Amino acid sequence: MLLIRCPYCGERPEVEFHCGGEAHIARPETPTETSDADWAGFLYYRTNPRGVHAERWVHNHGCGRWFNALRDTVSDRFVTTYEMGTPRPEAGSDVTRA
Ligand SMILES: [Zn+2]
Repeated sequence: MLLIRCPYCGERPEVEFHCGGEAHIARPETPTETSDADWAGFLYYRTNPRGVHAERWVHNHGCGRWFNALRDTVSDRFVTTYEMGTPRPEAGSDVTRA
């Protein structure tokens, strides 16, 4: 069973979590002044990398809190997890935040 480390609760089984898509997607500050193409890019277009990818996850059957994770899309290995609002760590770092 895959264990995912919630930054608030520690390691828990993957069935307690749900992925919320790509992390660090910033909403345009002035949506009414944003072009249709840029708005569509914000709403619908995401990267789909082979390798380490920053994702949002929620511990929906635990603390209910959202956090970010770096996950390798090839091996499905979680490189690290970190709290919302903190910058993306380097992919090669083994930094984990409690
Ligand atoms: Zn949790």
